[in-house]
Amino acid sequence: MAPPIASSDLPKIKISARGAERLKSGHVWVYRSDIVAADGIAAGSLVTVNDQRGKAIGTALYSSSSQIAIRMISADPVADFPALLRRRIADAIAYREPLVEGTDAYRAIFSEADFLPGLIVDRYNDILSLQILTQAMDANLSRETVISELSHFLKPDSIIERVDPRVRELETLPARASGLLHGSKTATTFTMNGVQFHFDALQGQKTGAFLDQRENYAAAAQYAKGEALDVFCYQGGFALHLAERCSQVTGVDSSRPALEVADQNAALNHRDIDWIEANAFDLLKDYSNSDRRYDTIVLDPPAFAKTKRDLDAAMRGYKELNLRALRMLRPSGFLVTCSCSYHVSRSDFLQMLSTSALDAHRVVRIVEARGQAKDHPVLLNVPETSYLKCFIASVN
Ligand code: SAH
Repeated sequence: MAPPIASSDLPKIKISARGAERLKSGHVWVYRSDIVAADGIAAGSLVTVNDQRGKAIGTALYSSSSQIAIRMISADPVADFPALLRRRIADAIAYREPLVEGTDAYRAIFSEADFLPGLIVDRYNDILSLQILTQAMDANLSRETVISELSHFLKPDSIIERVDPRVRELETLPARASGLLHGSKTATTFTMNGVQFHFDALQGQKTGAFLDQRENYAAAAQYAKGEALDVFCYQGGFALHLAERCSQVTGVDSSRPALEVADQNAALNHRDIDWIEANAFDLLKDYSNSDRRYDTIVLDPPAFAKTKRDLDAAMRGYKELNLRALRMLRPSGFLVTCSCSYHVSRSDFLQMLSTSALDAHRVVRIVEARGQAKDHPVLLNVPETSYLKCFIASVN
């Protein structure tokens, strides 16, 4: 085995005063425009980050192609990267032990929020689903270390890699197919809040569930009643939880494959739910114009604002959905309204909800202001780790 690299042997990157200021404020990224000198540094290297005067600020992972050139991994020198990875993985697992309950599906590692930038690991009962998003995490030594530690701690039957071809392209990594990294099992069932779900790692538009909503499902179910409409239902996350409390539940999504799994999930839980394949905007327009009424409505659309530039269009989309849903609720009904767009702030979203309530002539009381489940930690000072908003409101 090669001797561990002494930290002083690491290549050095010099960053601008603005970059150093950003790190001082607690952030962990330095953009390419704040790199002063990175000559000859190989893609995916572990590097020592120096400020303009040459003073070491810490150790980072370097990307030769991403706009985020540097992702800090430690404020200290790092001599043995695999050892650091092992420690971080153990820490991420230990962090969740007291926080995650009532589920065998959760995010075990959440990239920057677990000080493992570029690595996401979701657990679905006995299968782990892994995503690698940076050059440094894609290196063979990183992969081997991650797989062996995950196997050791979580003892999954299998580990599956989910590849996002666009991310690999942006990181100038060679193309790679999604597939098994360990074991042979590719499908299982998992349980959250007592509700069961099918998981098939190698099928479907997007593999897996929206684990970040897990606690919001349980919260929504506490208030749900009467006739319920789950708009953007995907594989039925909210609908299946609402079915415990509601007399009738309808789920709406534009994706047929998602609704097929939703239907299988309903059968698994012995629930009778109506699934409608439709464009949510069209359906809500029809339903509100024809005076359809519900006691509970969930709105959980995809991220409308993928970039800052989409913000105005996104807010118009949220407004239209929320306005129609508010009009369609019976008195004392409940609205569960979500946004997973990082670029839409909590205050933007609440502002949109306020004007929707005024326009709909409804009195709205926020009973719960929620975010993402605890296994998707929000790292203070790294605002990008906080993206999910979920408000539960009583509507009169
Ligand atoms: N509520 C779900 C997650 C929703 S993800 C859960 O908790 O599991 C967003 C969903 O919106 C996806 O399933 C996608 O197929 C669907 N979708 C996107 N655009 C849509 C549209 N215009 N009309 C209906 N569904 C749409």
